[in-house]
Amino acid sequence: MDKITVASQWLESCAGCHMSFLDIDERIVELLKYVELSSTPITDMKHPPKEGVTVGILTGGIGNEEEAAEARLMRERCKILIAMGDCAVTGGICTMRNFFDTQEVLRRGYIETESTVDGEIPHHEDLTPLTDKVTGVGDVVPVDIYLPGCPPSADAIWFVLSELLEGRMPKLEGKVLKYGMDG
Ligand code: SF4
Repeated sequence: MDKITVASQWLESCAGCHMSFLDIDERIVELLKYVELSSTPITDMKHPPKEGVTVGILTGGIGNEEEAAEARLMRERCKILIAMGDCAVTGGICTMRNFFDTQEVLRRGYIETESTVDGEIPHHEDLTPLTDKVTGVGDVVPVDIYLPGCPPSADAIWFVLSELLEGRMPKLEGKVLKYGMDG
C-alpha cells in the first residue's frame, strides 16, 4: 500500500481534537506505516506543500480572516478535507460569541473583565480582524467528511483514517458517533 500524506491544522479551537488524535495510542505506530505526516501544528511545516496532500484535517471553527484563509488554503491543497470536532463542524463552543456584536466581545475580553486594569482593545496591522460570526469550516469551503464530537473519540478518528486507507469513504453512524465506542 502506498503511503498517503496527511496534513492537519487547528483554527479557532482548543487542542482537544488533536489530543484525541494522539489518543489512538500505539495504533499511531501502525498508522505511520501507511501515512506520512505533512504540515501539522506540531511540526515545523505549517502549510501543506504546493503539490498538495491526500488528506487534510481541520479542527476548530472560523472566527477571523486568517482562519478563513487557512481553511481555503487547506481546501486548495488537500484532496479530501475532514472537519474534525464540533468546532470545525458547526463552530461549536466558539459560536457563543455570535450572540454579540464583535466590538462588544472585544470590549468584554480586553476591557471589562473583572481582573483587567486599564485594558485596551489591541489594534495592529498584523492582527487579523474577527469575522462577524464564528462558523463551521463547511460554511467557508466544501468539506468531504464531517466528524463530530467534542472531541471525537480516538476510536472514531481511527475509524475514519483506517477507512480512508482502505480506499473507502467512511460512513459515520451508530457507535462511531458515540464517545467511547465500547460504552
Ligand atoms: S470540538 Fe471540543 S475538543 Fe475539539 S477543538 Fe472544539 S472545544 Fe476543543
